[in-house]
Amino acid sequence: MDSRPLGTGGRLVVVGGGASATAVLHQLARHVDVRPDSVTVVDPRPAGFGVAFGTADPRLRCNTSVDVTSLRRARQSDLLRYLAARGWPVSRSDFVPRALVGQYCRERFTEARRTLAARGCALRQVTARVDTVRPATRPGQGYLVTLNDGHILEATDVVVAVGGDQPRLPEELRDHADHPELLVGPYPSGRLRALPEDARPLVLGSKLSAIDAALVLGASRRRVTLCSPSGELPAVRDRLCRPARAAGLLAGLRTLDPGSSHFDLAVTKLLVRAVRDASPRPSPALGRQFGTEPEALQRLGTELRQTETGANAWQLVIAELIEAVNDWTQGWPCRDRDRLLARFRPLIARHISAIPVSSARILAQHGLAGRLVVRRGNPTSLAPAPGGGWHAQWRPEGAAEHYTHVVAAAGYRPPAVCSHGPALLAFGTAACSPHCAPPPTDARLRLTPPDGGGPERIWMVGAAGGARTAIVNYLWTAAAQADVVAENLAAR
Ligand SMILES: Cc1cc2nc3c(=O)[nH]c(=O)nc-3n(C[C@H](O)[C@H](O)[C@H](O)COP(=O)(O)OP(=O)(O)OC[C@H]3O[C@@H](n4cnc5c(N)ncnc54)[C@H](O)[C@@H]3O)c2cc1C
Repeated sequence: MDSRPLGTGGRLVVVGGGASATAVLHQLARHVDVRPDSVTVVDPRPAGFGVAFGTADPRLRCNTSVDVTSLRRARQSDLLRYLAARGWPVSRSDFVPRALVGQYCRERFTEARRTLAARGCALRQVTARVDTVRPATRPGQGYLVTLNDGHILEATDVVVAVGGDQPRLPEELRDHADHPELLVGPYPSGRLRALPEDARPLVLGSKLSAIDAALVLGASRRRVTLCSPSGELPAVRDRLCRPARAAGLLAGLRTLDPGSSHFDLAVTKLLVRAVRDASPRPSPALGRQFGTEPEALQRLGTELRQTETGANAWQLVIAELIEAVNDWTQGWPCRDRDRLLARFRPLIARHISAIPVSSARILAQHGLAGRLVVRRGNPTSLAPAPGGGWHAQWRPEGAAEHYTHVVAAAGYRPPAVCSHGPALLAFGTAACSPHCAPPPTDARLRLTPPDGGGPERIWMVGAAGGARTAIVNYLWTAAAQADVVAENLAAR
């Protein structure tokens, strides 16, 4: 059963229908010998889009260049081919609106459906959430996938691509989750545009989702306050392309011992050397490629200028760094890997999730016009105001400030998937805890239940594959995982 291809008689169920699931289906359709009886995608959202690329707002751009925003790791970006074929004048380093990537994914999804249909395989979507995946009643007969509408699907193979689609609600807001002037997450962005013209929202968060909120709200001249414990905005870049050179960083990292007292210094030296080697012309010392101002909007202004004058060579090694960290830590126990990432987060997080230079320009203009404020620290108290809106107190003894709305944009919860309950996998409210470690997988991304059984014919990709892959929220990573899964399902 282990190396059986997904052939006649196969029933594949895909849990989640976002970009990662689309990458798997797109690549699967390219294997001519994959001819299952049926493929069923289960997702409450329309298949093909997912959360990040499901937005329709043209202001919200990718922070990854076209080069790496691709469902497949081909010599030329598949997104570039798609856009060029439709007359879009884009180059490989451009950052395009995420809505365009959504359209691309949706079209590739439809193409995969057509290709499989021509082989006699019906691909359909079921609009529901999956609660559990259990072994079939008769051993060796596959799996039963239970849905939140009470239906049960039979599967010989399962791909789990659930992403992290649930916005994180800060502790202080848990009791007010239903408050009419609380927006949990900035999407769909139409909810932000529908706020009254004189709305004065407080956005909790200062990373990508919070910046999306500031871009949408600022466009209609509303005054927005962003806040987070760090009070930091991401760095600024004008490209994130695939690495130009062989994996030099990975080779360097593999020689290091994380237990050594020189480890942090050695990693920093490796990064400095990688930036110098990647830079096509002499660039300023690494320390002069970042803003150092404590105030976020001033620092943004500095980093905007550095990017516009080409003084940020660090951006040339980011794709290599992500790849090197993912390859180097593959197979490490999650706890060790997460400890390592936490150690280097202050050094690299702003750069890994840097924002496009065009978005930075707009934010800087909002800041200059007094429409955008970024504060360090969250309110010490945040509560519904008696006459509507919210009261935020920034210091225990300070006066409360009034905001008409609160937008929770402090990121997403890791997918709630557990693999140590009675089911092989349980999702969302059926999971034993939203804080479970990601389900363990082997090198082929196949679920290996903690009781030592398996590997199962269940594959984990995207955020659900976080047990093996450190940095998963990046389509280029999902494209590589999809390749492994499609090869496996084709049993090559
Ligand atoms: C604001 C923002 C901007 C981003 N920008 C970029 C970018 O520019 N470039 C880039 O490469 N990456 C970007 N990312 C990361 C991006 O999300 C990933 O690259 C990728 O799109 C994730 O796709 P996914 O399919 O794994 O997850 P998602 O897009 O989250 O899709 C998962 C799907 O699973 C469904 N689902 C969840 N639970 C269940 C269940 N129990 N049953 C059935 N269905 C379920 C959800 O409804 C959803 O449709 C961004 C992320 C955010 C939040």
